[in-house]
Amino acid sequence: MARSTRSDQVEVYGRSVQALLNAMEFFEFKAHRVLAAHGIEPLEPEKWYPLPSVLDSFEDILKQVGPHTTRAIGHAVPENAVFPPGIHSFTSALAGLDAAYRLNHRGTGDIGGYHYHPETERTARMVCDNPYPCEFDLGLLEALYKRFKPKGSILLRIEHDGSGCRSTGAEACTYQLKW
Ligand SMILES: [Zn+2]
Repeated sequence: MARSTRSDQVEVYGRSVQALLNAMEFFEFKAHRVLAAHGIEPLEPEKWYPLPSVLDSFEDILKQVGPHTTRAIGHAVPENAVFPPGIHSFTSALAGLDAAYRLNHRGTGDIGGYHYHPETERTARMVCDNPYPCEFDLGLLEALYKRFKPKGSILLRIEHDGSGCRSTGAEACTYQLKW
């Protein structure tokens, strides 16, 4: 995998890996087995784990349990991961997502990120060139919307831009958001 060469110096905070276990409640045994197979055992919230091991675990889960579960893991992240202070709205959450991503990863190496491009009051574009699965980021964006639901909005629409997807080898996924 090309991406592990740029991420092998990076570690992930245990609290953010915990989302994986929380989201897989019905498959908890399987989740533990997958993590253990990649050396993440025991999983402790305050410890740090190598990013390639976490990404390989995601790949196994995507293969074994499918995209719905991967999306559900994304849903669980905002409940577990560390967020920078001062986030009280959906737009500030989108703008702060990259900083949150960096708080939950440490080390040297290019890990890409979450690039927020505000457009109108209720639209934005998010470019994700981090090494996590596309489905995971979709779940993450939906969860941010739920947690910081903008007043007067009933639905978040996410449209995946046609310029390429990480699941088929592209460098980034671009999402058009409307709420
Ligand atoms: Zn994608």
